[in-house]
Amino acid sequence: MEADGHHGGGLVSAPAVIDADVGIVGAGPGGMAAALRLADAGLAVVVLDEGMRPGGQIFRQLPAGFVSTAHPSEPPSHQQGHELLRKLQRSKVRVEARATVWDAAAPTGPGPVPHTGAAAQAGKLWFEQDGASRLLRCKAIVLAPGAYDRCVPFPGWTLPAVITLGAAQVMVRGFAIAPGTRAVVAGSGPLLLPTVTAMLAAGVEVVAALEAAPRLAVLAAIPGVLRSGARLREAFWYARQLLKAGVRLKFGHAVFAVEGNGRVERAVIGKVDAAGMPLRHTARTVEADVVCTGFGLVPSIEIGQKLGCATVWNETSGGWCLEAGPFGQTSVQNVFAAGEIAGIGGSEVAIADGEAVAGLIVANLRGAPAPLPLSSRRQSARSAAFAMLRAFHVRPGLFSLAQPDTIVCRCEDVTVQSARAAALVHGSTLRGIKMGCRAGMGPCQGRLCTPNVQALASSVGAAKWDLPTVQVPLKPVATATILDAPKG
Ligand SMILES: Cc1cc2nc3c(=O)[nH]c(=O)nc-3n(C[C@H](O)[C@H](O)[C@H](O)COP(=O)(O)OP(=O)(O)OC[C@H]3O[C@@H](n4cnc5c(N)ncnc54)[C@H](O)[C@@H]3O)c2cc1C
Repeated sequence: MEADGHHGGGLVSAPAVIDADVGIVGAGPGGMAAALRLADAGLAVVVLDEGMRPGGQIFRQLPAGFVSTAHPSEPPSHQQGHELLRKLQRSKVRVEARATVWDAAAPTGPGPVPHTGAAAQAGKLWFEQDGASRLLRCKAIVLAPGAYDRCVPFPGWTLPAVITLGAAQVMVRGFAIAPGTRAVVAGSGPLLLPTVTAMLAAGVEVVAALEAAPRLAVLAAIPGVLRSGARLREAFWYARQLLKAGVRLKFGHAVFAVEGNGRVERAVIGKVDAAGMPLRHTARTVEADVVCTGFGLVPSIEIGQKLGCATVWNETSGGWCLEAGPFGQTSVQNVFAAGEIAGIGGSEVAIADGEAVAGLIVANLRGAPAPLPLSSRRQSARSAAFAMLRAFHVRPGLFSLAQPDTIVCRCEDVTVQSARAAALVHGSTLRGIKMGCRAGMGPCQGRLCTPNVQALASSVGAAKWDLPTVQVPLKPVATATILDAPKG
């Protein structure tokens, strides 16, 4: 499947400021679904995405002109995503690829209808694209920036060739690169199975596939998942792929440590109990040259925070999420949320969200009532996802894998013991620990360590972390981009 939408090309002459009715951040399923429906209603829509091509994480495409013989086969439910990509290519939606949004301002106006006129101020999305500093002005903003991987530190997790489940998929599906030859795939959640199939498609031998949740917890989630037939069929499809390849997913297992001289050479694996506590007497060593690990996803809420949107804590849905109504309404007028930013739910939810958001924006513009059927579809997809994710919560015992010298913030090389020392002096809030040891102050801006730092520095296994504060730039960009930012 090749679909590009209408990319910003010829960047020498690209205008610094562009205008649209609706600006969308993210060309994943949520952003694409919203964009298509809005464009169908005759609105001018611009989608900004930092990726090279639209599709988001799940429908990631190889760069234009690349062909791969190792592209993993996909469950039938993914056809929905490919259909979106095909429609996007034929649509009037303008997709600006390689466009990293690093700052944002909310639209203001006298009412819920996206406005023009003297009383209204356009919403603004500043982005960097191929070294140029650009600005999109729009009457309404839809945030669909997805999520990022969650890691739980264990000894050796920062060795080269320990990668996240998401990174493994990006390498195989986005760049046709095999991350190694012998892989351990471990963690918890629905991303494990697609990662195993991606590894197999790339010719990587999967020597162990380990799910930390107990089998019973996963089976108990099935009745709730029945609310989404597509989800269940997808799970069975992946299970069949593993069976065909002779890979057995071991429940109640985890990686205890990774060892090697300068890179991954072996992994120590073993059983964990229902609370995630490692059962050390079961430990054994397997040889591997890549370890893929991940414990679910964390919503990417930073742009929403910058716009002043209210957030809500929901551990099952990934932690801090943007608060969103049934049609993706945030607490800020004419700013909407679709997909993982409002809680992890998968592509089916993201598409339903995108359509619901677009339905409301179009209804607002026409002065019509909100389209209710879309809202209930979104609700049942979300509750099926919620039922499934409950089985895969991060078990507190897993935090006991990290030792005092294990790194917790990899950008700033902060160990567990220095985070603990900082907590003793400055308090065990996120801010206190950060003040004392710089955890979260590196280039990833805390995306990787924030969910773990308080759990490891204070009471082992604390499930909740403080809401991080956001700083501009929201993503790392060149200083010149900030200095040259169009004022609009
Ligand atoms: C690495 C990764 C791999 C995944 N693989 C699978 C899988 O195989 N199967 C599965 O069922 N689910 C997978 N998921 C979950 C999947 O992402 C979601 O279910 C679904 O894609 C969510 O759709 P979305 O529209 O909310 O966000 P996404 O699909 O994540 O799309 C968000 C888009 O926003 C863009 N973006 C984010 N921030 C910015 C910014 N500041 N500026 C510009 N653009 C930005 C990103 O480039 C991305 O294209 C994966 C998630 C991740 C993080």
